[in-house]
Amino acid sequence: MSCFDPLKFRQQFPLLQKHVNEKPLIYFDNGATTQKPQCVLDAYQDYYKASNANVHRASHVLSARATRAFEEAREAVRTFINAASSKEIIWTKGTTEGINLIAGSWGESQLKAGDEIVLSYSEHHANIVPWQLVAEKTGAVIKILPLSNNGTLDESKLAEVITARTKVVACAHISNVIGRINPLEKIIARAKAVGAITVIDGAQAIAHLSVDVQALDCDFYLFSAHKMFGPTGVGVLYGRLALLEQMPPYQGGGEMIQTVSFAGTSFNELPFKFEAGTPNIAGVVAFAQAVRFLRTHQGQAFRDYEQKQITYMMHKLQNIHGIRFIVSEAPDIPVFSFTLRGHHNHDIATALDSRGIAIRSGHHCAMPLMEYLKLSGCLRLSLAPYNTFAEIDEVIEVLTAIVRGEEPGGEHKVASVGAL
Ligand code: PMP
Repeated sequence: MSCFDPLKFRQQFPLLQKHVNEKPLIYFDNGATTQKPQCVLDAYQDYYKASNANVHRASHVLSARATRAFEEAREAVRTFINAASSKEIIWTKGTTEGINLIAGSWGESQLKAGDEIVLSYSEHHANIVPWQLVAEKTGAVIKILPLSNNGTLDESKLAEVITARTKVVACAHISNVIGRINPLEKIIARAKAVGAITVIDGAQAIAHLSVDVQALDCDFYLFSAHKMFGPTGVGVLYGRLALLEQMPPYQGGGEMIQTVSFAGTSFNELPFKFEAGTPNIAGVVAFAQAVRFLRTHQGQAFRDYEQKQITYMMHKLQNIHGIRFIVSEAPDIPVFSFTLRGHHNHDIATALDSRGIAIRSGHHCAMPLMEYLKLSGCLRLSLAPYNTFAEIDEVIEVLTAIVRGEEPGGEHKVASVGAL
């Protein structure tokens, strides 16, 4: 039986060995971005030291070496999410750029006035604003799927909201605030039944679940390298080949063309048609290392450890006086969102920061969700498998002291309301 050792795992992350505000860093903001292991940092530097050149262009050794590493990374990602072809893997800057690409290319070329785009109340702004922009340009209309009491998209409303007028259904695999797995199988089946395309924002799911895009049967799946131990500035757009073939380019420039003359331009084959200009080669190469790293560790033992983190954290948090969870049931991934009655979120986050504890407070780029919940914001603790039970104990101790008034933490400033 494989065995996951969080302490050994943790040793591979240099930043986690540091102090912040003279205290050992406790990093509980992994939903925003994860820390990077030494092997990823090395891959990034090694690329610049040993292989740096532009890809797909020159016939010299370094360019060939860089191109090989770049394309091997694409193949590593293809295998990681079980896409049918590496032509379906498009490099982007991140999830946000991927959704903008789909909305800009597919959306602008296919949508017309009166067509409907279905989103949900729990979407990140990255999966709302690009659709609002395309709706404004095309006259398409946005409709919103409500949430059930357990925080996932309400399955009972699928047939009512996703109709013959629906052309796109775009939703998160897991919300960055709620942390629960959405019923994708049912959502995708309903979208297919009405002929709509499905766009799945996998930003929060990819580091925690094993994702198989063919089994999901979605049309698009997006994620960011930096949330899965990889560098910032790299993301993946998976798209079904037939759809990508039909779609017009998103940006123009070098690399994405076959021939250019002033009489007209013909475009490169996939995936290059969507990769204009010099890409983030070092980032992509380092990301391949992050994918290998995650594959090595992401077994059942890794998942069992995450489940133990969830159970332990929920149990401890429930005992804090005045806590109000956004969703009362335990999350599926270690993301815990809540408010503390009588305390201002920002004051709590600042008090924790002074103890070297990094958490997130605010609207979490999900303002429509906050409005739905009648909250101005909330606190979020998001864990990775390098977080230990001792760290959880430490955070709970500080939160408890704040609530008891034994630590500064903005007592009794606002009354928090709202929860699913
Ligand atoms: N969707 C979700 C659910 C997210 O959590 C995030 C990042 N917080 C994004 C989209 C956007 O990702 P990025 O900023 O890497 O493009």
